[in-house]
Amino acid sequence: MFDLTGKTAIVTGGNGGIGLGFARGLARAGANVAIWGRNADKNEAARAELAELTEVLALQCDVGDEDDIVHAFAETVDRFGRVDSVFANAGIGGRSTRFAEMTLDEWRDIFRINMEGVFLTFRTAVQHMMEHQQGGSLVVTSSGSAYFGMPRGEHYAATKAGVNAMIRGLAVEYGKHGIRANAITPGWIDTDMTAPLLANERFERGVLPRIPRKRWGRPEDFEGIAVYLASDASAWHTGDVINIDGGYAVA
Ligand code: NDP
Repeated sequence: MFDLTGKTAIVTGGNGGIGLGFARGLARAGANVAIWGRNADKNEAARAELAELTEVLALQCDVGDEDDIVHAFAETVDRFGRVDSVFANAGIGGRSTRFAEMTLDEWRDIFRINMEGVFLTFRTAVQHMMEHQQGGSLVVTSSGSAYFGMPRGEHYAATKAGVNAMIRGLAVEYGKHGIRANAITPGWIDTDMTAPLLANERFERGVLPRIPRKRWGRPEDFEGIAVYLASDASAWHTGDVINIDGGYAVA
Protein backbone atom coordinates (compact mmCIF):
# COMPACT_ATOMS: atom_id res chain seq x y z
CA MET A 1 0.00 0.00 0.00
CA PHE A 2 2.87 2.37 0.75
CA ASP A 3 5.19 1.17 -2.02
CA LEU A 4 6.24 4.08 -4.26
CA THR A 5 8.28 2.06 -6.74
CA GLY A 6 7.85 3.54 -10.22
CA LYS A 7 6.38 6.79 -8.88
CA THR A 8 8.11 10.17 -9.07
CA ALA A 9 7.94 12.95 -6.47
CA ILE A 10 9.17 16.54 -6.57
CA VAL A 11 10.11 18.26 -3.31
CA THR A 12 10.80 21.99 -3.50
CA GLY A 13 13.20 23.01 -0.76
CA GLY A 14 14.16 19.34 -0.63
CA ASN A 15 17.84 20.02 0.09
CA GLY A 16 17.39 20.60 3.84
CA GLY A 17 15.08 20.69 6.85
CA ILE A 18 11.53 19.40 6.53
CA GLY A 19 11.85 19.02 2.73
CA LEU A 20 14.82 16.68 3.09
CA GLY A 21 12.73 14.73 5.62
CA PHE A 22 9.99 14.35 2.99
CA ALA A 23 12.57 13.38 0.36
CA ARG A 24 14.20 10.72 2.58
CA GLY A 25 10.84 9.09 3.31
CA LEU A 26 9.86 9.10 -0.37
CA ALA A 27 13.25 7.70 -1.38
CA ARG A 28 13.13 4.93 1.23
CA ALA A 29 9.67 3.92 -0.08
CA GLY A 30 11.11 3.55 -3.59
CA ALA A 31 10.06 6.76 -5.38
CA ASN A 32 12.25 8.61 -7.84
CA VAL A 33 12.86 11.97 -6.21
CA ALA A 34 13.60 15.41 -7.66
CA ILE A 35 14.70 18.06 -5.17
CA TRP A 36 14.64 21.72 -6.15
CA GLY A 37 16.50 24.44 -4.25
CA ARG A 38 18.61 27.53 -4.82
CA ASN A 39 21.82 26.64 -3.00
CA ALA A 40 24.07 24.46 -5.18
CA ASP A 41 26.14 23.10 -2.25
CA LYS A 42 23.05 22.07 -0.25
CA ASN A 43 21.55 20.53 -3.39
CA GLU A 44 24.68 18.45 -4.00
CA ALA A 45 24.97 17.27 -0.37
CA ALA A 46 21.32 16.18 -0.32
CA ARG A 47 21.59 14.58 -3.77
CA ALA A 48 24.60 12.51 -2.69
CA GLU A 49 22.78 11.32 0.44
CA LEU A 50 19.53 10.44 -1.37
CA ALA A 51 21.41 8.72 -4.22
CA GLU A 52 22.27 5.96 -1.71
CA LEU A 53 18.54 5.22 -1.53
CA THR A 54 17.01 5.94 -4.95
CA GLU A 55 17.22 7.69 -8.33
CA VAL A 56 17.54 11.36 -7.53
CA LEU A 57 17.75 14.61 -9.46
CA ALA A 58 18.79 17.88 -7.78
CA LEU A 59 17.94 21.06 -9.66
CA GLN A 60 18.76 24.68 -9.00
CA CYS A 61 15.48 26.53 -9.03
CA ASP A 62 14.06 29.68 -7.46
CA VAL A 63 10.40 28.84 -6.91
CA GLY A 64 9.46 32.51 -7.19
CA ASP A 65 10.68 32.55 -10.80
CA GLU A 66 8.20 31.36 -13.43
CA ASP A 67 10.86 30.32 -15.98
CA ASP A 68 12.85 28.41 -13.35
CA ILE A 69 9.74 26.39 -12.45
CA VAL A 70 8.86 25.57 -16.04
CA HIS A 71 12.44 24.46 -16.77
CA ALA A 72 12.83 22.43 -13.58
CA PHE A 73 9.53 20.66 -14.20
CA ALA A 74 10.48 19.86 -17.81
CA GLU A 75 13.89 18.52 -16.70
CA THR A 76 12.22 16.35 -14.06
CA VAL A 77 9.80 14.91 -16.64
CA ASP A 78 12.68 14.38 -19.10
CA ARG A 79 14.53 12.33 -16.51
CA PHE A 80 11.69 10.33 -14.95
CA GLY A 81 8.93 10.35 -17.60
CA ARG A 82 6.15 11.64 -15.38
CA VAL A 83 5.42 13.19 -11.99
CA ASP A 84 2.96 11.70 -9.47
CA SER A 85 3.32 13.93 -6.42
CA VAL A 86 4.56 17.44 -5.79
CA PHE A 87 5.55 18.77 -2.37
CA ALA A 88 5.55 22.60 -2.48
CA ASN A 89 7.65 23.00 0.63
CA ALA A 90 10.18 25.76 -0.16
CA GLY A 91 9.62 28.72 2.12
CA ILE A 92 11.29 31.54 4.00
CA GLY A 93 10.58 33.14 7.37
CA GLY A 94 10.26 36.85 8.02
CA ARG A 95 12.76 39.20 9.65
CA SER A 96 10.57 39.81 12.71
CA THR A 97 9.95 43.42 11.78
CA ARG A 98 7.22 45.22 13.72
CA PHE A 99 4.09 45.40 11.55
CA ALA A 100 4.00 49.21 11.63
CA GLU A 101 7.56 49.36 10.28
CA MET A 102 7.23 46.61 7.68
CA THR A 103 8.04 47.75 4.15
CA LEU A 104 6.08 46.70 1.12
CA ASP A 105 9.26 45.09 -0.25
CA GLU A 106 9.58 42.87 2.83
CA TRP A 107 5.90 41.90 2.58
CA ARG A 108 6.31 41.06 -1.11
CA ASP A 109 9.55 39.04 -0.62
CA ILE A 110 7.65 36.59 1.57
CA PHE A 111 4.68 36.42 -0.77
CA ARG A 112 6.92 35.85 -3.81
CA ILE A 113 8.31 32.63 -2.39
CA ASN A 114 5.73 31.28 0.08
CA MET A 115 2.64 32.06 -1.98
CA GLU A 116 3.52 32.75 -5.63
CA GLY A 117 6.09 29.94 -5.49
CA VAL A 118 3.35 27.49 -4.46
CA PHE A 119 1.00 28.82 -7.15
CA LEU A 120 3.64 28.45 -9.89
CA THR A 121 4.71 24.99 -8.69
CA PHE A 122 1.15 23.66 -8.47
CA ARG A 123 0.00 25.28 -11.72
CA THR A 124 2.77 23.51 -13.64
CA ALA A 125 2.04 20.27 -11.78
CA VAL A 126 -1.70 20.41 -12.51
CA GLN A 127 -1.05 21.08 -16.21
CA HIS A 128 1.16 17.98 -16.31
CA MET A 129 -1.26 15.81 -14.32
CA MET A 130 -4.20 16.85 -16.52
CA GLU A 131 -2.22 16.06 -19.65
CA HIS A 132 -1.40 12.56 -18.39
CA GLN A 133 -4.87 11.88 -16.88
CA GLN A 134 -3.38 9.68 -14.16
CA GLY A 135 -4.19 11.92 -11.21
CA GLY A 136 -1.62 12.96 -8.65
CA SER A 137 -1.00 14.33 -5.17
CA LEU A 138 -0.28 17.98 -4.35
CA VAL A 139 1.09 18.74 -0.88
CA VAL A 140 2.00 22.12 0.56
CA THR A 141 3.90 22.87 3.76
CA SER A 142 1.74 25.29 5.70
CA SER A 143 2.18 26.50 9.29
CA GLY A 144 0.29 26.88 12.56
CA SER A 145 0.64 30.62 12.04
CA ALA A 146 -2.31 30.28 9.65
CA TYR A 147 -4.43 29.89 12.83
CA PHE A 148 -2.44 31.32 15.75
CA GLY A 149 -1.69 35.02 15.77
CA MET A 150 1.96 35.55 14.83
CA PRO A 151 3.26 38.92 16.00
CA ARG A 152 5.82 40.41 13.57
CA GLY A 153 4.96 37.62 11.14
CA GLU A 154 1.68 38.81 9.64
CA HIS A 155 3.07 38.44 6.10
CA TYR A 156 4.35 34.89 6.73
CA ALA A 157 1.09 33.85 8.43
CA ALA A 158 -0.99 35.32 5.60
CA THR A 159 0.89 33.21 3.02
CA LYS A 160 0.28 30.07 5.06
CA ALA A 161 -3.44 30.76 5.49
CA GLY A 162 -3.47 31.49 1.75
CA VAL A 163 -2.02 28.12 0.78
CA ASN A 164 -4.54 26.35 3.02
CA ALA A 165 -7.28 28.06 1.02
CA MET A 166 -5.50 27.20 -2.22
CA ILE A 167 -5.43 23.45 -1.55
CA ARG A 168 -9.14 23.44 -0.69
CA GLY A 169 -9.94 25.02 -4.05
CA LEU A 170 -7.66 22.59 -5.87
CA ALA A 171 -9.20 19.60 -4.10
CA VAL A 172 -12.67 20.64 -5.24
CA GLU A 173 -11.71 21.77 -8.75
CA TYR A 174 -9.58 18.74 -9.69
CA GLY A 175 -10.94 15.92 -7.52
CA LYS A 176 -12.84 14.41 -10.44
CA HIS A 177 -9.53 14.08 -12.29
CA GLY A 178 -7.93 12.09 -9.47
CA ILE A 179 -5.79 15.02 -8.34
CA ARG A 180 -5.66 15.37 -4.55
CA ALA A 181 -4.46 18.41 -2.61
CA ASN A 182 -3.53 18.57 1.08
CA ALA A 183 -1.53 20.79 3.41
CA ILE A 184 0.76 19.77 6.25
CA THR A 185 1.06 21.97 9.33
CA PRO A 186 4.37 21.33 11.08
CA GLY A 187 4.72 22.31 14.72
CA TRP A 188 8.09 23.63 15.97
CA ILE A 189 10.69 21.76 13.92
CA ASP A 190 14.43 22.04 14.43
CA THR A 191 15.73 23.27 11.04
CA ASP A 192 17.93 26.08 9.69
CA MET A 193 14.87 28.34 9.69
CA THR A 194 14.11 27.95 13.39
CA ALA A 195 17.57 27.17 14.84
CA PRO A 196 18.18 30.65 16.34
CA LEU A 197 14.71 30.71 17.93
CA LEU A 198 14.85 27.18 19.35
CA ALA A 199 18.30 27.90 20.80
CA ASN A 200 16.85 30.80 22.78
CA GLU A 201 16.47 29.67 26.41
CA ARG A 202 13.46 31.88 27.14
CA PHE A 203 11.66 30.54 24.10
CA GLU A 204 12.48 26.95 25.06
CA ARG A 205 11.23 27.46 28.63
CA GLY A 206 7.99 28.97 27.34
CA VAL A 207 7.18 26.65 24.46
CA LEU A 208 8.69 23.20 24.99
CA PRO A 209 6.51 22.34 28.03
CA ARG A 210 3.41 23.15 25.93
CA ILE A 211 4.23 20.47 23.33
CA PRO A 212 2.55 17.22 24.45
CA ARG A 213 5.36 15.09 22.91
CA LYS A 214 7.90 17.17 24.93
CA ARG A 215 10.48 17.65 22.21
CA TRP A 216 11.05 19.75 19.09
CA GLY A 217 10.07 18.12 15.82
CA ARG A 218 12.77 16.75 13.51
CA PRO A 219 12.96 16.37 9.73
CA GLU A 220 12.58 12.58 10.13
CA ASP A 221 9.13 13.14 11.68
CA PHE A 222 7.98 14.06 8.14
CA GLU A 223 9.04 10.89 6.33
CA GLY A 224 5.87 8.94 7.10
CA ILE A 225 3.34 11.60 6.13
CA ALA A 226 5.17 12.16 2.83
CA VAL A 227 4.98 8.47 1.98
CA TYR A 228 1.31 8.32 2.95
CA LEU A 229 0.33 11.35 0.85
CA ALA A 230 2.36 10.19 -2.18
CA SER A 231 0.96 6.65 -2.02
CA ASP A 232 -2.30 4.99 -2.98
CA ALA A 233 -3.02 4.64 0.76
CA SER A 234 -4.28 8.24 0.69
CA ALA A 235 -6.35 7.84 -2.52
CA TRP A 236 -9.50 9.27 -0.88
CA HIS A 237 -7.82 11.88 1.32
CA THR A 238 -8.01 15.39 -0.10
CA GLY A 239 -8.71 18.99 0.91
CA ASP A 240 -7.24 18.45 4.37
CA VAL A 241 -4.81 20.35 6.56
CA ILE A 242 -2.86 17.80 8.59
CA ASN A 243 -1.07 18.71 11.83
CA ILE A 244 2.30 17.05 12.36
CA ASP A 245 3.14 18.94 15.50
CA GLY A 246 3.61 16.64 18.49
CA GLY A 247 0.12 17.65 19.68
CA TYR A 248 0.86 21.40 19.94
CA ALA A 249 -2.37 22.53 18.27
CA VAL A 250 -4.62 20.69 20.71
CA ALA A 251 -2.74 21.38 23.96
P1 NDP B 1 14.79 25.40 5.96
O1 NDP B 1 15.30 26.80 5.95
O2 NDP B 1 15.63 24.31 6.50
O3 NDP B 1 14.33 24.97 4.50
C1 NDP B 1 13.79 25.85 3.57
C2 NDP B 1 13.97 25.22 2.21
O4 NDP B 1 13.36 26.07 1.23
C3 NDP B 1 15.43 25.07 1.83
O5 NDP B 1 15.59 23.83 1.19
C4 NDP B 1 15.66 26.21 0.83
O6 NDP B 1 16.66 25.86 -0.11
C5 NDP B 1 14.29 26.31 0.18
N1 NDP B 1 14.02 27.61 -0.42
C6 NDP B 1 13.88 28.81 0.19
N2 NDP B 1 13.62 29.75 -0.71
C7 NDP B 1 13.58 29.15 -1.93
C8 NDP B 1 13.37 29.58 -3.25
N3 NDP B 1 13.13 30.86 -3.53
N4 NDP B 1 13.40 28.67 -4.25
C9 NDP B 1 13.66 27.37 -3.99
N5 NDP B 1 13.87 26.89 -2.76
C10 NDP B 1 13.85 27.78 -1.74
O7 NDP B 1 13.41 25.49 6.75
P2 NDP B 1 12.25 24.43 7.07
O8 NDP B 1 12.62 23.08 6.61
O9 NDP B 1 11.88 24.66 8.45
O10 NDP B 1 11.09 25.02 6.14
C11 NDP B 1 10.38 24.24 5.18
C12 NDP B 1 8.93 24.70 5.14
O11 NDP B 1 8.32 24.42 6.39
C13 NDP B 1 8.76 26.20 4.89
O12 NDP B 1 7.69 26.40 3.97
C14 NDP B 1 8.37 26.73 6.25
O13 NDP B 1 7.60 27.90 6.16
C15 NDP B 1 7.60 25.56 6.81
N6 NDP B 1 7.47 25.51 8.28
C16 NDP B 1 8.55 25.28 9.09
C17 NDP B 1 8.39 25.19 10.47
C18 NDP B 1 9.52 24.91 11.40
O14 NDP B 1 9.29 24.90 12.63
N7 NDP B 1 10.73 24.67 10.93
C19 NDP B 1 7.05 25.32 11.08
C20 NDP B 1 5.98 25.53 10.14
C21 NDP B 1 6.21 25.61 8.79
P3 NDP B 1 17.82 26.89 -0.56
O15 NDP B 1 18.46 27.36 0.70
O16 NDP B 1 18.71 26.08 -1.45
O17 NDP B 1 17.11 27.95 -1.32
